[in-house]
Amino acid sequence: MKKHAPSKTESTWKNAKIALSVLSGLLLIAALTSVSLRFILPDSNTSTKSSATVVSSIATTTAASLTVSSTSASAATDTLPTATPSPTVAATPTPTPTPTVTPTSKPTTGGTKDLSGYVVVLDPGHQTHANNDQEPLSPGSTATKAKCSSGTSGVATGRQEYVVNLEIALKVRDYLESLGCTVYMTRTENDVDISNIERAQFALSYMPDAYIRIHCNGADDPSVHGVSVFVADSGKYEDQLVGWGKSLGKCITAATGAKYLYCNATDTYSGLNWATDIPSFLLELGFMTNADEDQLLSDPDYQQKIAIGVADFVAKMPLNPDR
Ligand SMILES: [Zn+2]
Repeated sequence: MKKHAPSKTESTWKNAKIALSVLSGLLLIAALTSVSLRFILPDSNTSTKSSATVVSSIATTTAASLTVSSTSASAATDTLPTATPSPTVAATPTPTPTPTVTPTSKPTTGGTKDLSGYVVVLDPGHQTHANNDQEPLSPGSTATKAKCSSGTSGVATGRQEYVVNLEIALKVRDYLESLGCTVYMTRTENDVDISNIERAQFALSYMPDAYIRIHCNGADDPSVHGVSVFVADSGKYEDQLVGWGKSLGKCITAATGAKYLYCNATDTYSGLNWATDIPSFLLELGFMTNADEDQLLSDPDYQQKIAIGVADFVAKMPLNPDR
């Protein structure tokens, strides 16, 4: 590259640079003076101002331009080490992993559910001797129904429904209690005489989270099998009962592998009509008129699966606000 003589502009710039160097030196002195003054003077806003004024006057006597020195003095004061908090070394931001949503749902079967605080009333359907005396179908109704009908019996096992109902209800009770649930039974023996209204009133007296009437079904067609649920078509929980009843039926079929049939709302069960102030369900666990299902319903392992299904359902229920 070709060398060239310094131009006029360059030489002027050189002079300016020299002037700047001198000025820088003066400013450095001014800054140092300010620092030392700050160590002597008390640390306050007033002292900072006065130290700035001192620096300014020193600068005035030494520097050519008052304006420049004044500005520099302010700048020097602003950048005093004691006035500026030492910057915190910012840690390299660690990327925060997106939190994984942990499902809080309880295990569906056989898990460790906590049912403490829950209250359930179980009604093992029927009894040794039917009671065909009549009682009102519902409060204020002129229609009547037998106080306690006889129930069905197993085509394969020959067992009576009321016996199987109690066997299963006791398994359900024991399992619910093992999970902390409080359970009341309308009966723990077969040879009793308790009408459906009396059973409903017993359940109402505890304001449970669920009143579950445990039954087995019967049909003329031996091929019919599966789980169904009946609920009242009126009362305090009219709008929720079918949804809850479906949930109950599906919890049972999920735990047992049985076929889910339906949940029907009806006004034909006195035991439900008299208990509409609480969530009441008539659970038909299977058909004793179907040989395979009849045998399963008397199988202790299958009965235990039913208990697990009931517990899964109870865990989904809200606590009764009236209790
Ligand atoms: Zn029954």
